[in-house]
Amino acid sequence: MALRNVVKRGDPILKKKARPVSEVTDRIRMTMEDMLETMRTDQGVGIAGPQVGVLRRMFVAEPEPGRVYYMINPEILSKEGSELDSEGCLSIPGLYGIVERPSKITMKAQDLNGDLQEYTFEGFDARVMCHEYDHLDGILFTDKAKEVHTEAEWEAIREQENNK
Ligand code: ZN
Repeated sequence: MALRNVVKRGDPILKKKARPVSEVTDRIRMTMEDMLETMRTDQGVGIAGPQVGVLRRMFVAEPEPGRVYYMINPEILSKEGSELDSEGCLSIPGLYGIVERPSKITMKAQDLNGDLQEYTFEGFDARVMCHEYDHLDGILFTDKAKEVHTEAEWEAIREQENNK
């Protein structure tokens, strides 16, 4: 396994629509393992192909330590409800935003063997999957966020609200 460079905001690849993975090959499996290692090193919970310069519809997510999802050619089948929470992104270090996401989704995707799997995700898991899925369509959380601030700014805002 090898660490990959994480593409940062401003790079045009992050705005492009990724192409489907035509076949789940050893090369794809190796790329996914590299993505997992890179994501863990940067303490992220998800990373999508375009973020490592691979413009293919695939992402890795680990919403909870040890619970890893390899999603190849994912599709969101249904969305339910909505909730607001904060989000960050490995490609946009230091910024956090409040983003509206569905509270529940169903998704299908191929796994590392190329087999089609179906999943139901709720809450934080659903948020992570929708964030990563957006990367495949060239959408960043800052495109959707109601407010975007640095961690220090958020702390100041919270403090102000507590003093009201
Ligand atoms: Zn991201």
